[in-house]
Amino acid sequence: MGLIVQKYGGTSVGDVARIKNVASRVARWKGEGHSLAVVVSARSGVTNELIARAKEVKAQPSDRELDVLLAIGEQETIALLAMALHDIGVPAVSFTGAQAGIITDDVHTKARIRQFRPGRVAEMRKCLGRGEVVIVAGFQGETEDGRVTTLGRGGSDLSAIAIAHALGAESCQIYTDVDGVYTTDPRIVPGARKIPELSYEEMLEMASAGSKVMQARSVEFANKYGVRFEVRSSMNENPGTIVKEEDDGMEQVVVRGVSLDRNQAKVTVAGVPDRPGVAARLFGVLAAASVNVDMIVQNVSASGVTDISFTVSRDELAKARAAAEPLVREVGASGFSAREGIAKISVVGIGMRSHGGVAAGMFEALAAAGLNIQMISTSEIKISVIVDEANAEKGVRAVHDKFGLGG
Ligand code: ADP
Ligand code: ASP
Ligand code: MG
Repeated sequence: MGLIVQKYGGTSVGDVARIKNVASRVARWKGEGHSLAVVVSARSGVTNELIARAKEVKAQPSDRELDVLLAIGEQETIALLAMALHDIGVPAVSFTGAQAGIITDDVHTKARIRQFRPGRVAEMRKCLGRGEVVIVAGFQGETEDGRVTTLGRGGSDLSAIAIAHALGAESCQIYTDVDGVYTTDPRIVPGARKIPELSYEEMLEMASAGSKVMQARSVEFANKYGVRFEVRSSMNENPGTIVKEEDDGMEQVVVRGVSLDRNQAKVTVAGVPDRPGVAARLFGVLAAASVNVDMIVQNVSASGVTDISFTVSRDELAKARAAAEPLVREVGASGFSAREGIAKISVVGIGMRSHGGVAAGMFEALAAAGLNIQMISTSEIKISVIVDEANAEKGVRAVHDKFGLGG
């Protein structure tokens, strides 16, 4: 039987009992004759604790050193899981990201995978061939010259999909604390429904709009290389959600899901001289600082000056400020202001390509719930709005109801 790649997230390996539970699940698959490569996250909370500790030492720690620190979390889990498997008589061997041959670019804290070292992939295959379970630390890799990197929050999903691709696995299973991808976060709407199948494109839009059940980049990678995967629970045997290429039936559903992203901040650069090249420079310095800008709004110009507002993720706000403030002074804009306390609600579905009226329906639902919309953006299969964070969950419930997604 073929190779299966399984990934267990933070909650699934949250303590010793859960690590033992994972070991016995892995042993069961192995007993059925499969080869297994298992990717694991840090125990839940560990990555956040490490970040908090770094910030106690220095408010803005160096990204290079942060990566060295954060990689510890996953390294603890691979060793403990290997020991738990040995304890029940299953041969297993652990690999850090670097030992698994994962080479990334050098954008510390959100590095992209470039390739695998073939010699290391061969080594993993050799272990699998000897009947050993290969356990790989998620979320980490190394640069060509050997610096430790991490792959962005939630990055163990990416490690799993990349390893499934590199090893040519028969299937890739993402085990988490929910038994699939739901129409919205079931913690916000308990009546949300499990989606049996969705396309890469929908999963990607939901993930990048804040549905953290999958890391967006991992879905991008899966789409690029055609790696089908299934999201399942590590706590039960329920069938999960299959994420795969689009098929004919999928466009029948207009709205597949509703996402919420609380990790948002709005920046306004006021009094910007309204002349060619200013926006290019502003977004140029942000790009050079690796700040991802999401929505952008420019007001109508009055007396030769204008305001430009844009959103960034909250954890990139300090970087955005550091990059943009000198430019604000240089171009003679009147100010830089930032506001947290906002959130983004998005509706996603490939059926939107062929069905109209979704924006109107969404705005009606938000209006009826008393929410004010601050910014809007649309793509072919997604509509997003920025609202006050305090009312965001109410907004998600209203929109979810409006499109009849509940059970
Ligand atoms: P892991 O540690 O296993 O990677 P995560 O915490 O990253 O798990 O992702 C699982 C969580 O994603 C769930 O507990 C759930 O609250 C959240 N979530 C957000 N949106 C969705 C959705 N549409 N469907 C399922 N879970 C979602
Ligand atoms: N431990 C990392 C994080 O918390 C990676 C992951 O869990 O996927 O973001
Ligand atoms: Mg995750």
